[in-house]
Amino acid sequence: MSRLVLRGARWPGDVAIEGGRIASVGSVPAEPGDEVIRCDGDIVTPGLVNTHHHFSQWMTRGWAVGCDLFDWLATLYPVWARLEPEDVEAAAAVAMGELALTGCTTAADHQYVVPGGDDSVFDAIAAAARTIGIRAHIARGSMDLGQSKGGLPPDSVVEDLDAILASTQAVHARLHDGERIVVTVAPCSPFSVTAELMTESAALARRLGLRLHTHLAETLDEERDCVARFGNRPLDHLDELGWIAGDVWLAHGIHFNDEEVTRLGRTGTGIAHCPSSNCRLGSGICRVNDLIAAGAAVGLGVDGAASNEIGGMLPELRMALFLARQRTMNPASFMPVDALRLASEGGARCLGRDDIGRLAPGYRADVVVWPGDDLADVPDSLAGLVLGPERTARHVLVEGSHVVRDGHLVGADIQELRRELARRARRLWPEGKSLA
Ligand code: ZN
Repeated sequence: MSRLVLRGARWPGDVAIEGGRIASVGSVPAEPGDEVIRCDGDIVTPGLVNTHHHFSQWMTRGWAVGCDLFDWLATLYPVWARLEPEDVEAAAAVAMGELALTGCTTAADHQYVVPGGDDSVFDAIAAAARTIGIRAHIARGSMDLGQSKGGLPPDSVVEDLDAILASTQAVHARLHDGERIVVTVAPCSPFSVTAELMTESAALARRLGLRLHTHLAETLDEERDCVARFGNRPLDHLDELGWIAGDVWLAHGIHFNDEEVTRLGRTGTGIAHCPSSNCRLGSGICRVNDLIAAGAAVGLGVDGAASNEIGGMLPELRMALFLARQRTMNPASFMPVDALRLASEGGARCLGRDDIGRLAPGYRADVVVWPGDDLADVPDSLAGLVLGPERTARHVLVEGSHVVRDGHLVGADIQELRRELARRARRLWPEGKSLA
């Protein structure tokens, strides 16, 4: 078997890959038969791990621009209810294409609107993942608490509890392979899901050996709603339902008090920090440093493009660094390497993966080569990558195979994917017109 060597990178040196795994890192002596990719002056990192996304929201960028979370959701639920599986596949392809081009090799998706209960939307997401070539952790999301029962979403977009559980089992049986496609069980949020669905979902996930994911503590509105509805703060509510544990990761996790941060750390619960989305919706700033210090697993997420608008992975590292420093008012509290760690090892831990997220022998060869041409003047190349101008990855490898080569997707043409997405998205515009 021939060996692939990424040779001459400015950081961290050479990387040798054999049989889809990283064989060695640093200074790799040449061997006869090596296949060599020159990386002189470039920067090599582990493939980035995105821990929270809603791929289908690429169909609704630029909507409800001045709204907070609840108003934004109320505007978009009926629009998302009109999505067809083909729309979801088109959106997922653009979402994963953009992620791959910005260094992401593993992405978690949370599809919680399942129009008409048609769970072929998950097959559509898996098909897009195979086209682009990155790993997808596909969360079978769900909502069963409609407005008539006091929930936020209209009744037309919620499903029946038994149907959700049966579908989740079927999606797992159809798609889960544990490496490329990993199925997760994911009721949406305390304001759109009954306590019974949370409990039953946890039991199902633990029976199947799957991880659990949901949104929690994203806004103060949610906290007030949860206290009014259940008499509990969001974390206590989930804790009572068996959801604060090492096989769970939570999206956002902003509004926690000191005791709750300690509890999340003690249990090893994961948090998907989504800095751009939180800024776009004015939701608050996650206590990233405190959560890491407490021992919680903290990863990075772009969140759906309807609240992120960019959908790229690399820009989130810079945003995470900026927000952590604003939160602590201490620039030394969060360095470029901390942002990279969040987006790689931290994310892998959230997703329960001990085989990805590091450039170390034995790990799967999910690797990004970033162009360093315009950073040759910057003394710390990692600072240049995280703080400096945005860029597209030069090469992205998954399991040692290219998914991005010389700045272009191998499996698809991103411009074509964008054209198809726009064609589909425009029919959702009010009366076929632009919003402004
Ligand atoms: Zn979300």
